Amino acid sequence: MDAEIIGVGSELLLGQISNTDAQYISQKLSQLGINVFYHTVVGDNSKRLKKALEIAVDRVDIIITTGGLGPTMDDITKETIAEFLGIPLELHQPSVDRIENYFAKRGRTISQNNYKQAYFPKGSIILSNNHGTAPGAILEYNNKIFIILPGPPRELQPMFEEHVIPYLENRSSEKIVSRVLKIYGIGESDMEEKIKDLLIDQSNPTIAPLAGVSELSIRLTAKTSRNEDPFKLIQPIERKIRERLGDVVYGVDDDTLESVVVNLLIESGKTIATAESCTGGLIAERITSIPGASKVFLQGIVSYSNQSKIEILKVSKDAIAKYGAVSRETAEEMVKGIIKTSGADIGIAVTGIAGPGGGTKDKPVGLVYIAVADNKGFLTVNRYNLLGDRKRVQQSSASIALDSIRRALLNKKID
Ligand code: ATP
Repeated sequence: MDAEIIGVGSELLLGQISNTDAQYISQKLSQLGINVFYHTVVGDNSKRLKKALEIAVDRVDIIITTGGLGPTMDDITKETIAEFLGIPLELHQPSVDRIENYFAKRGRTISQNNYKQAYFPKGSIILSNNHGTAPGAILEYNNKIFIILPGPPRELQPMFEEHVIPYLENRSSEKIVSRVLKIYGIGESDMEEKIKDLLIDQSNPTIAPLAGVSELSIRLTAKTSRNEDPFKLIQPIERKIRERLGDVVYGVDDDTLESVVVNLLIESGKTIATAESCTGGLIAERITSIPGASKVFLQGIVSYSNQSKIEILKVSKDAIAKYGAVSRETAEEMVKGIIKTSGADIGIAVTGIAGPGGGTKDKPVGLVYIAVADNKGFLTVNRYNLLGDRKRVQQSSASIALDSIRRALLNKKID
């Protein structure tokens, strides 16, 4: 089945808001194996919306509208669809009750306009809105499916999850699932080279490499009939890709470097502390954003000035004078210092030049030292020359640091 998304709203055309509803719906439909062939945007104008509907019914099976379901005169989506199809609007009593209830609960007076939101083209399936007053609707007419959704993402997204996805899954004779392999520490072309033959031979599952800002991923999508399990088709290909790529595959689906690190730490019963200079607390922030971090994260110190490195982390004045704050020696002393002051099993330290100023010929912007150590004598300090602006250097440093801990734990260098 093919789909078109019609965003209704002059705000979209004026560039006041971005069409994130279309982005969200497209992502969801692709996971269901439904091709989105067109994104259209029209203003709050009945004539132009009718024209867009005319074009859409000629070229797709599913037409999804977003927005224009509000109580005011310029909210015209349902009225225009009904007119376009030549069917009347009907009052839906359960929606009247819900809207009245919604206003009563909030102590607001309901105006006559609000009842407009309880009228739907005759024959619609009504989709309740638990986050606002405008219900949505699905209407099957002449072998086409019209899905009418509210504009605000916080209303549209739960409605889509709760009602639209189950509806579309039921209509489909196929089952489609995706699994995303998350990858860090290899370049895009290197990765493609290693799995080239698999990419050429792909059919079901399809193999889609995707490049993010600093990470890569591979989406495997398999399709089967409703009574088979598509994951059975994904497993052997996933195994092959993992064999080829090794430990650069750090997780799947919603995993992040930080969630994988926190889980590995929990599994191994180890605690960690961070000493950060140029990343300004970013590593600590990423670790503590993961539920359960309190079991493993003891302390994070942002040690920016030389003085604080000396006083808090006990970096020697000599090391800083002789080698500089951004040096292998200082990174090593920082990581040893944080393990000592925090009492953690594992320490991580970062010192570098994020830019745009502060670089020299010997120590250019993007030079970063990352040290990982444990309290049993494991120590590694690596030097990186990172590219990009200040934010990019900071984010890459944090990602490399997290990945270094992941690898050390995974490969039992820290045990
Ligand atoms: P309401 O019941 O709140 O009036 P509605 O269904 O009538 O909702 P609109 O009035 O068209 O929707 O838009 C309401 C708000 O929803 C917009 O101001 C905007 O913040 C958001 N919105 C609308 N369309 C989109 C879109 N395509 N992408 C992202 N946000 C959108």
